[in-house]
Amino acid sequence: MTDMATEEIVLHGIGGSPGICIGKAYLVDKDGVDVVPKYAICESKMDAEKKRFKMAVKKAVDELHAIINETSAELRENAKILETHVVLLKDKMLYGRTLETMDKEHINAEWALRKVSQAIKPLFENMEDPYLRDRAEDVANVSERIMKHLTGSAGVSIRNINKRVILVARDLSPAETSQIKLERVMGFVTDRGGRASHTSIIARSLEIPAVLGLEKATSAIRNDDIIVVDGTAGVVVINPSEETLAQAETRKIEFENRRAFYARSGHLPAKTKDGIELAVMGNIEMPEEVAAVIDRGGDGIGLYRTEFQYMARKDFPSEDELYEHYKDVLDVMPDKPVTIRTLDINGDKALAHISDIEENPVLGLRAIRYCLRKPDVFLTQLRAILRAAHHGQVRILVPMISKIEEVLETKRLLAKAAESLKKDGLRHQTQVPLGIMIEVPSAAIMADAMAREVDFFSIGTNDLIQYTMAIDRGNRHVAYLYSPVHPAVLRLLKHVTEAGARRNIPVFMCGEMAGESIYVPILLGLGLKELSVNSQAIPLIKNAVRTLNVDQARKFTDQLVQQTTTQAIEKMLESTYGELKNNHHHNWER
Ligand code: PEP
Ligand code: MG
Repeated sequence: MTDMATEEIVLHGIGGSPGICIGKAYLVDKDGVDVVPKYAICESKMDAEKKRFKMAVKKAVDELHAIINETSAELRENAKILETHVVLLKDKMLYGRTLETMDKEHINAEWALRKVSQAIKPLFENMEDPYLRDRAEDVANVSERIMKHLTGSAGVSIRNINKRVILVARDLSPAETSQIKLERVMGFVTDRGGRASHTSIIARSLEIPAVLGLEKATSAIRNDDIIVVDGTAGVVVINPSEETLAQAETRKIEFENRRAFYARSGHLPAKTKDGIELAVMGNIEMPEEVAAVIDRGGDGIGLYRTEFQYMARKDFPSEDELYEHYKDVLDVMPDKPVTIRTLDINGDKALAHISDIEENPVLGLRAIRYCLRKPDVFLTQLRAILRAAHHGQVRILVPMISKIEEVLETKRLLAKAAESLKKDGLRHQTQVPLGIMIEVPSAAIMADAMAREVDFFSIGTNDLIQYTMAIDRGNRHVAYLYSPVHPAVLRLLKHVTEAGARRNIPVFMCGEMAGESIYVPILLGLGLKELSVNSQAIPLIKNAVRTLNVDQARKFTDQLVQQTTTQAIEKMLESTYGELKNNHHHNWER
C-alpha cells in the first residue's frame, strides 16, 4: 500500500484560514464522527482477520439476543426491529460482501465493513417501498454494532484525537468542529466548504490554517500521509518533496513573522489619515477566545456566537450555565462592548437533539424563527444575558430577522424576561442596547423601518450574500458566485448604511467581508462605524484603516456602486487599493 506514497501531489482548494502547517494527515470519516482504521492485510494473515470479523459479528448477534430477551412485552414492537437486525447481521449483502471485499482488496475488516455498508446504504435509500427505504438506517445501525466489537469501542470519537495532526474530512459540521480538542489539531482540510462556511470561520478564529472545498482530499490523502497545508494560498501538498518542504518551512516562518509584525501594531487605534476612528472588534464562538481578541488589540466583541454552547449535547443549557458563560466573557472584558448574539441554530448548525430534519434548513426554522417558536428556550437565554449584562457593557444582537414583527416580538419577550427577573429578585440590567443582524435581503430592503425599532444594525454578509445570490455558502460548486462585491450586494449595503444614517443609528458589520482588508475602503466609504472580525484579522484591518482617507474612500465607493459587474468592481478595487490584499498567492508547481 505504500508503493505510490512517495509521489508529490498538489491539490488546489479554497483558502479557508491563512497560515501554513506541515504534519501528518488524520482522516475523519465521511459521516464525521468516527475514524475507521484502514490498513492492508497480507494473504497469510487474511484467515485470522476474517475470523476476527466473524467473532465481532457473533458478539453483535449475542448482544442483540440478550437485549431482545430482556425486552418487556410492551416493548415487543421495538424488539422486532432488533430481530431484523439479527437477520441483517448475517445477511449476504453485509456479511458476505464484507468478507468478499476483504479477500479481494486485501484490506482489514473495519475498512471492508465500512466500504460495504456505505455502498449498500444508498441502495436501500433509493428504494420505492418506504419500508425498505427505512432499512437503510438499520444497515447503518447494524454495521456500527459490528464496528464497535471490531474496534473495541464505538469508534474513535473526534473528541479524543490525541496527537498533533491535520484533520482531513469530507466536511466538518460546526458541532464537530466545536468538539475537537483544538490544541491537538494543526490544520483542517475538507472536501466541502467555502470561505464563509462555519468550519472556515472557526478555523480562522482559532488561527488554524485551513484549506476547504478540495473535493478530492479524502480520497487522495491517506492516514499518516505527510501533508503541507497552505491556508493562505488554498493549496495542499501530499507527500511533499524535500524541496517543497523547505519552501513551506520558509513560507511558514515568513507568515508567522508577518503575523507577529501586525500583532505588534494591533493596539494602535484604527484612525484614518483624515482622523476618523473606527472600532475594530472581535468575533468569538467560545468564551476562551476573548483573550485572543484582547491580545490582538480588539476594541470589544462585535459578535459572540452563542449557539456553540447548545451543541454536542442532548439537552438545552440552563439559565445559570449560560449566565456563567457570558459572565466569563464579561469578567475578562468588563469595560468594552460585548455583543451577545441570541441563538442562531438550525441552518447549518442543527442541535443534536432536534429530530425534525428540514429539507432546506438554511431557509427553515433557523435563529430568531426558532426562538420565537420556542419562547421558553429564548426567554432562558434572554434572562441569562440580562443577568450577565450587570457585569459589563452588553449589547444584544438578534440574527436572521426578516420582518418587523419579529423585532417587536423580541422586544416584548425581552421586557418579559426583565420583568420576571425583577420578580425573582435577581440582579440584572434592563437598559441593554438591542440590535439586529441585517443578513436577510427582506430586512435589508426594509432597513429604514427596522431602524426605528432598534439601537443598531450589524450586517452579516455571510448570510446576506448567501440569500441575495441564492447560493449555499458552504457549497464549493457555487463558491464562484460568492462575492461581497457583487453589485447587488454593494447596493444593498449602501441602502442599509443610508437608512441607518437617516434614522441616526450606527451600522456595524460582523460578516467575514469585514475581515478582508481589501474591502476596508468600501466599508469606510459606506460609513460603517464598527467592524467585527476574527481575532487574527484585527491588526490587519486596523492597519488597513490607518492607510486610508475616508473622503477618498467615499468618492471611490460612490463610483463602485455604479458598476454593474463583480469583475469591474474587483478590477477597480485592485487597481486603486490592490496593496491592501490580505493574501499573497504563490505559484505551486503542479
Ligand atoms: C453572517 O451571516 O454574516 C454572520 C456573521 O453570521 P453567521 O456567520 O454566524 O451566520
Ligand atoms: Mg448569519
